Amino acid sequence: MGDTVFSKIIRKEISAEIVYEDDEVLAFKDIAPQAPIHVLIIPKKEIPTVNDINEEDAPLIGKLFLVAKKLAKEFNIAESGYRLVMNCNKDAGQAVYHLHLHLLGGRKFSWPPG
Ligand code: 5GP
Repeated sequence: MGDTVFSKIIRKEISAEIVYEDDEVLAFKDIAPQAPIHVLIIPKKEIPTVNDINEEDAPLIGKLFLVAKKLAKEFNIAESGYRLVMNCNKDAGQAVYHLHLHLLGGRKFSWPPG
């Protein structure tokens, strides 16, 4: 059992505003939202970073994007647009070492990112 904050959210040891859950994936609102819509989509499997994804994880990683697409539609940002972000390690600013896909929307984003 992992001890990241996201493992604790999966185990329901700490609360989160959950917006999607199935046996493999959990999605919940970010505690410090960077946009009007800011959801974190995570695998229940403990994968620390993108560097730790294996071949066998390909369907699971694909599912994170399918959940992102579904939630974008539900939150009415599918047509206006949204950004999906997965930070890996320190230079990208990864703070929680349990793989997570950020779904951000409801405002315009600049490019390149800071
Ligand atoms: P990272 O920088 O690792 O890509 O993103 C981690 C994200 O997790 C941050 O956006 C941060 O606000 C969010 N976060 C950290 N701790 C918690 C928590 O306890 N609950 C929720 N809902 N989000 C969290």
